[in-house]
Amino acid sequence: MQVSSRRQVVAGNWKMNGDKALVEQIQRHLMVADLKNMDVVICPPFPYFGLFDSKVKLGSQNISQFDSGAHTGEISAATLNEFSCEYVIVGHSERRADNHESNELVALKVEQILKAQLTPILCVGEPENVREDGTLFDYIAAQLDAVLLQVDISQFTDVILAYEPIWAIGTGKTASPAQAQEVHAFIRGHLAEQDANIAAKIVILYGGSVKGNNAQELFSQADVDGGLIGGASLNPEEFLSICRAAN
Ligand code: PEP
Repeated sequence: MQVSSRRQVVAGNWKMNGDKALVEQIQRHLMVADLKNMDVVICPPFPYFGLFDSKVKLGSQNISQFDSGAHTGEISAATLNEFSCEYVIVGHSERRADNHESNELVALKVEQILKAQLTPILCVGEPENVREDGTLFDYIAAQLDAVLLQVDISQFTDVILAYEPIWAIGTGKTASPAQAQEVHAFIRGHLAEQDANIAAKIVILYGGSVKGNNAQELFSQADVDGGLIGGASLNPEEFLSICRAAN
């Protein structure tokens, strides 16, 4: 299988799922897997952070745009740093919908993540009606441009992007490899308008019903550098087979 020359990344987003037994099972599976030259990231609910072995790369599912203070239920970059968290998912469509996170708020969060020297996994992606009415690329460009207004393109060397069509998340309706490639190439091209060198190097993940049986074809696309995995990251064997497809 052909994969891009960029570093491959597979991140598992557990959302509000998982338990102590899964922490243990995932670690056991990752320990025996020979996954070199790629990053495997687990984004569990916060209380499980401390149960992971230091060899597992951890990601947060959220971060506050504020440094600290009276923001009940939020989590700061400083706290994430204390618990060896390296990555932060930001702009996930579920947070955009459930918590009314706007493009502008997402941009502030990306700035906060970079300031703390963490790696944002910045999610963009369209709802089904946007794809149907033909404004897909404008929609994605607006999501990217809001961040580019707040964060200079030079800082994008430390950003991972994730294309997650909303209609494919948790639905079993995966984007076809050609559909994924088309949008990934658009994202890279859009960033290249500001800096071609950075755009060529940026890691762009695909997320949306990736499973063990479709990962290989998706990851073999020229501009797909791995995946952001929801449901399948809760099944250690399936998650491992997705990681192997990226390796
Ligand atoms: C996600 O939640 O980011 C995701 C891609 O979920 P799933 O893999 O279940 O579609």
